[in-house]
Amino acid sequence: MELYIHIPFCVRKCAYCSFASFPSCNRKEMERYVCALIREASLRRSFLKEKIETVYIGGGTPSLLPPDLVFMLLKCLKSEMDFSSVKEFTVEANPGTVTPEWLEAILPFGANRLSFGVQASQDRLLNLLGRIHRFGDVVQSVHMARQFGIKNINIDLIFGLPTQTADDWKQTLNDVLSLSPDHISAYGLIPEEGTPLFQALENGTLSLPDPDLERNMYDCAISTLHAAGLYQYEISNFASPGKECRHNIGYWTQVPYLGLGLSAASMIRCPDRDNQTDPFSNRWTNPSSFDGYYAMLEQDGIPEEIKESIFPEEARFETVMLSLRMTSGMHRGDFLQLHGEYPEKWYGEILYRLKGQGLLELRDDSWRLTRRGMDLQNSVLVEFMN
Ligand code: SF4
Repeated sequence: MELYIHIPFCVRKCAYCSFASFPSCNRKEMERYVCALIREASLRRSFLKEKIETVYIGGGTPSLLPPDLVFMLLKCLKSEMDFSSVKEFTVEANPGTVTPEWLEAILPFGANRLSFGVQASQDRLLNLLGRIHRFGDVVQSVHMARQFGIKNINIDLIFGLPTQTADDWKQTLNDVLSLSPDHISAYGLIPEEGTPLFQALENGTLSLPDPDLERNMYDCAISTLHAAGLYQYEISNFASPGKECRHNIGYWTQVPYLGLGLSAASMIRCPDRDNQTDPFSNRWTNPSSFDGYYAMLEQDGIPEEIKESIFPEEARFETVMLSLRMTSGMHRGDFLQLHGEYPEKWYGEILYRLKGQGLLELRDDSWRLTRRGMDLQNSVLVEFMN
């Protein structure tokens, strides 16, 4: 079982951000929110049917929470929930907001992985994205985390940015590699509707790089990171051996998860399934507004906004879609365990056709995308949808 906790506060809103995050450093608002999270945790305790193996505090900017508040939150969560089986405990942090006091507050509860939102190393691009930090803040924050004994550090990057050149991207990769991170997530920019960046692209103030350049940046990330000992284990994720993100692998392998806080999602497997027509899992999402979230909790209600049951056909498709993102692919035995039959029962014709086209391969009992299949991932997945 995985536990996710959402902290929706940021210093300011980045130009490309569509996450549930709000610009606020107001202590009173944060206190109210932390109390609501603790309340939700106590209401949801009974949903934890299995031991918690990973904890992920994301946002937003969790490193913006004052040290005493983050300490109180973790102390109360630990008294509500059993953390004794937690193997990976990640906290997201933004460079420039990490302090020794904040690190001292999270470490006693087992936090052992920090994930920094870095995105680029050029001031010009950081300004364009509306980020609050400079690359010097990244260097300082990473060194501070190491001094406090954090041995697992992730850095998030974005490529395919307006005005970003191939040289900018190479320099960003080399700059972050000079900090010896254990893990790098490198995402191609997806402009989200409603963001200032999307608006600027719509009205022509900014434009995206040529698709060939974006593809070259992706290739450059794969080869540069591989040469530095960070191997690709998922479309956008690279790690040194043993430092793959367990929490994300859990999502991609459909491990049940419980989310606490604004807009957090949860998925719990349906027990006692008798046949292939019973729902596979239930999912829900918490309200995405403070008012909605607080109103439900104040009435002692479980804060759920969107609820849905996932039936076997959709669950099988999700297994294909999520597992093919990983370079280890879709293991036939794992599929059998989840769905009661091997994948060929439902997808045999498509799997072998895509294999014939050089887009999939069957190796070590796992169906995997070939390199060409990874480049054409969306078209490959459409085949399964059809
Ligand atoms: S720091 Fe992250 S969550 Fe906050 S506004 Fe920027 S992108 Fe969004």
